[in-house]
Amino acid sequence: MTDDDRLTRSGEIGPAERLAMNRTGSFDWDLDTGTIDVDESGLLVFGLTQDAYDGSPATLVARLAPEERTRLKGIVREAVKGGSVSYNAHFPIPQAEGAPHWTHVQARILRKPDGRAQRIVGVVRDTTAEVSHTAACRRARRTGATEGTGVRERDRPKTAAVVREALDGRVPEYLAVLEAELEESLRSDGPASGGEALRAALRGDCHLHSDWSDGGATIEDMGRTAAALGHDWAVLTDHSPRLTVARGLSAERLREQLDVVARLNEEWAPFRMLTGIECDILDDGSLDQEPELLDRLDLVVGSVHSKLRMDAKAMTRRLERAVRNPLMDVLGHCTGRLVAGGRLRPESEFDAERVFAACAESDTAVEINSRPERLDPPRRLLRLAVAAGAYFAVDTDAHAPGQLEWQILGCARAEECEVPEERVINTWSADRLSRWTRS
Ligand SMILES: [Zn+2]
Ligand SMILES: [Zn+2]
Repeated sequence: MTDDDRLTRSGEIGPAERLAMNRTGSFDWDLDTGTIDVDESGLLVFGLTQDAYDGSPATLVARLAPEERTRLKGIVREAVKGGSVSYNAHFPIPQAEGAPHWTHVQARILRKPDGRAQRIVGVVRDTTAEVSHTAACRRARRTGATEGTGVRERDRPKTAAVVREALDGRVPEYLAVLEAELEESLRSDGPASGGEALRAALRGDCHLHSDWSDGGATIEDMGRTAAALGHDWAVLTDHSPRLTVARGLSAERLREQLDVVARLNEEWAPFRMLTGIECDILDDGSLDQEPELLDRLDLVVGSVHSKLRMDAKAMTRRLERAVRNPLMDVLGHCTGRLVAGGRLRPESEFDAERVFAACAESDTAVEINSRPERLDPPRRLLRLAVAAGAYFAVDTDAHAPGQLEWQILGCARAEECEVPEERVINTWSADRLSRWTRS
């Protein structure tokens, strides 16, 4: 079986399948060095091969018609200088023969604390087929014509008119439809159903936040909601000090939180709020909190929140060191990808087989993060983790009480990838879980 077959069978969206399906690639533009890292699918959208690409924005822009170059540069400049967090652009790429290919860019601008733009990450997508299809369907609906009458061919978008409209600052009508469809297709990575059997077996959630860090609700509200959902326990995992944007807890505040949780547990029995942390995995793989304090906690989730684009070798070392740390119990959202919403982010690159083998050896569970914009790890990697014999934690990473219901999304993916129920640590009692984390 070829690699591509495997990707297709697993339902995973790999580069080859993605391109065949909707021609989508990703890019990461480092504004300090001025280079744009574009993946293979992304280069194909621009009609470039890896050999023909030198990492320079100018090489990509050169693929556009001159008036389009000016327009695209204007959009990017305005977004970067104007303090925007994202931008979208839709433009044609002329072909040597035939009609131009339409390309959609959706990008997120990452800024330093002082507001200066540092990186732009995003997706590029060849939308030619959709543009003509959408236009044909709209026309067909208007005229009552049906598919197969040649409407599609006749209604190829009139390029000049579209460009004029775009230059006038008006968004062509079908592009608005396209935007909505793009949003939809990004969301559709999540399963529509399934996971009920595993969900019914879960007794708790190992990853949730309160307003002590970047959550929107109090510990009380999160705990009460978890209990109301039928959980026997939940683990409070607010962020660690280094994640200042998320108001990560200092050692002192975390100690304070432990006392608060202890008091709440007296009221809440038999429901138990277990103590925990979502601890940043630092660049060298060490954990961002005092070891004695981590040791006191019931459960430690370790996650990467910085330098997600470090090279695969370094990232493998970083993750491996972290998961082999006896203080760490769960590897949170391992690829860091964001697949929906205004922010998109490609997967971090690392040797997944190696990292999951280390998880299995050191009894560190691989998290199945249920957040709809994360759904991390992707199915391809989730199957690798199953093959490695790792434990799993199906978590919501909830930042508000309503998000505690998202666990069903992770359960559906777990079932789809044949995660054995007995390997899911959320099916255990609180006592069994804390015995396991302390062993
Ligand atoms: Zn996180
Ligand atoms: Zn989190």
